Amino acid sequence: MAKMYYEHHADLSYLQGKTVAIVGYGSQGHAQAQNLRDSGVKVVIGLRKGKSWDQAAADGFEVFEVDEAVKRADVVQMLLPDEVQAKVYHDSVAPHLEAGNALMFSHGFNIHFKQIVPPKDVDVLLVAPKSPGHLLRRVYEQGFGVPSLIAVEQDATGKAKELALAYCKGIGSTKAGVIETTFKEETETDLFGEQAVLCGGVSQLIKSGFETLVEAGYQPEIAYFECLHELKLIVDLIYEGGLSGMRYSVSDTAEFGDYVSGKRVVAEPSREAMKQILKEIQDGTFARRWIKENEEGRNEFQAMRREEKEHEIERVGSQLRKLMVWDKKEVPVNQ
Ligand code: NDP
Ligand code: MG
Ligand code: MG
Repeated sequence: MAKMYYEHHADLSYLQGKTVAIVGYGSQGHAQAQNLRDSGVKVVIGLRKGKSWDQAAADGFEVFEVDEAVKRADVVQMLLPDEVQAKVYHDSVAPHLEAGNALMFSHGFNIHFKQIVPPKDVDVLLVAPKSPGHLLRRVYEQGFGVPSLIAVEQDATGKAKELALAYCKGIGSTKAGVIETTFKEETETDLFGEQAVLCGGVSQLIKSGFETLVEAGYQPEIAYFECLHELKLIVDLIYEGGLSGMRYSVSDTAEFGDYVSGKRVVAEPSREAMKQILKEIQDGTFARRWIKENEEGRNEFQAMRREEKEHEIERVGSQLRKLMVWDKKEVPVNQ
């Protein structure tokens, strides 16, 4: 059983008298910064001039260029997009890190794949909330927290884990539960999950189902409901009660169809592909490809993004979602 930590394991005093620089004020940055501030931790924000800078200032934070924020900080949490972290680290973070500081991340990519190699005299920690940033903030405001993962890569001060747990308490996560992992495990499983199941696997499954129905002559709107819209309702049931909870709620016909057909759709070739994908994550093939793609201006990435946006399911979906009046406060006129 994985080791779990809760409120009584964490002591906020490890952050007392310290300044935390949150570098980046996007999805995770704004949420972690605001939660820490509301927990009584001193927070400054490190950014470049622009949209996020204006937002952080409007939210009442002291905002500085990254160099300046790091100079003022004892704890530096890197919440920039993973693909820009290494450059910003080398230019603006590394020159100002002092012995005994802590360098933190919410995803292990740059440490695990050695894009960032911190000096030996700083703590290197991971606090990775298992939730999008906006939910991290909303759940905290409701008086609770989302679960997080922690990991210690370097323990220069001898108090790295205590600091990670204090940080988790500050963002609300020890209310929900914190699991200990390693940078390697977090990085590899996170990449695998998003590629094989959560983003890649699910998107492809939805599109294949939709295309099969539409090619067979069914109305795209109906195909959209069956293969995309209802997915949320099914996932909610799985989230609450596991696969058995979902199967308890659907009809016996659906449950029987699940058993006999699911294994045919996601069969041995998919499992073989998953194993190959995992291997390419573990041996660094995927990381090298993504780093190179960024270095070369992201042309392949942008082309795939455009192509996917033009898929028929996206057009049908954006029209249909406007008409889903049960989601909206006002009923549209003439519909
Ligand atoms: P976002 O893309 O939402 O935000 C990035 C922030 O970095 C923005 O405020 C942006 O400001 C700023 N920024 C970008 N480039 C620079 C630069 N060169 N110099 C200074 N600031 C810059 O990032 P996320 O919150 O999604 O991701 C942050 C980290 O959290 C990543 O490691 C990610 O893997 C991890 N993570 C994210 C989750 C999520 O919910 N999204 C979940 C768990 C982990 P500007 O307005 O100037 O562009
Ligand atoms: Mg990820
Ligand atoms: Mg049905």
